[in-house]
Amino acid sequence: MAIKRDYYEVLGVARNASAEDLKRAYRKLALQYHPDRNNGDPQAEARFKEINEAYEVDIFDMFFGANAAGRTRTGPRRGSDLRLDIRLTFEEAVFGVERELTIPRAEACKACQGTGAEAGSSPQTCPQCRGSGQVRRATQSIFGQIVNVASCPRCNGEGRVIERPCRTCGGTGHQPGEKKVRVNIPGGVDSGSQIRLAGEGEVGPRGGAAGDLYIVINVKSHPVLKRNGTDVVYELPLSIAQAALGDTIEIPTVDGPEKIEIPAGTQYGKTIRIHGRGVPHLRSGRRGDQIVYVRVVIPTSLTEEQKQALRALGGISGKPQQIDKGFFDKFKHAIGLE
Ligand SMILES: [Zn+2]
Ligand SMILES: [Zn+2]
Repeated sequence: MAIKRDYYEVLGVARNASAEDLKRAYRKLALQYHPDRNNGDPQAEARFKEINEAYEVDIFDMFFGANAAGRTRTGPRRGSDLRLDIRLTFEEAVFGVERELTIPRAEACKACQGTGAEAGSSPQTCPQCRGSGQVRRATQSIFGQIVNVASCPRCNGEGRVIERPCRTCGGTGHQPGEKKVRVNIPGGVDSGSQIRLAGEGEVGPRGGAAGDLYIVINVKSHPVLKRNGTDVVYELPLSIAQAALGDTIEIPTVDGPEKIEIPAGTQYGKTIRIHGRGVPHLRSGRRGDQIVYVRVVIPTSLTEEQKQALRALGGISGKPQQIDKGFFDKFKHAIGLE
């Protein structure tokens, strides 16, 4: 799995770039690296793919409704933002995944191309507000005249009126529909992460701009691995004998099973760090570590042979390294390690 680059870096924009800046940067790069313009050069193609992914995924630390850009006070209203919750497996969240999603949403009416006006007619400039979408109302108060600016009641602030509404959509300009959207979810997302797909929300009434689609991630828990930021935490149960004598143990990691060395004399609560086996950082792509937390399991039911071995161990004074190897071989056998 190639390490993904920072999406902002890919597009060559600052982290605080506006949606317009992103769009501009994307268009410029997409033209430059388009495969048709580069005689199928595989490097250009890879770059083109990367640019598209960066733009498509387009991660912003934005809250719902915070996207005020593109909304105008007059003219056709912008469509609604949509939210879609998706569930990912632990591994999909770590490494990223491509998903095709079917989004039920309003689409522009085909009969009137989204204008809301019946074929052969077109929306007219509103006679009441003369297209401004706003009306001024002067009222008298004890302080003198107050002028209120309000949305035009005739055209609902849109500035245009439809004399003959489209018969297919009733003048709304949209129809129920659905759209398939392919989305690349980058590695490193976690529960609560949001991906905004600009312009993939509902189309606005009567030709208004489309809203955005927010994909909200929910990650299923893993049977034995846990996330702690970019680290993966694993609790490793060890027998007394394994902890005392050391052992080579295969443990699960997100990259598959991996053998680790348990040094002799490992204490309860010791942590072993496996570098680079964690979760990639969403922006830098640098992977965290896997942290193995040792838990020594004290046996609850023992055979008579095992009890004797433990009694013998309890009776020995001094440090483990002073005990002769032969004893430990017998002990390991009795405990069931060998
Ligand atoms: Zn009006
Ligand atoms: Zn229509």
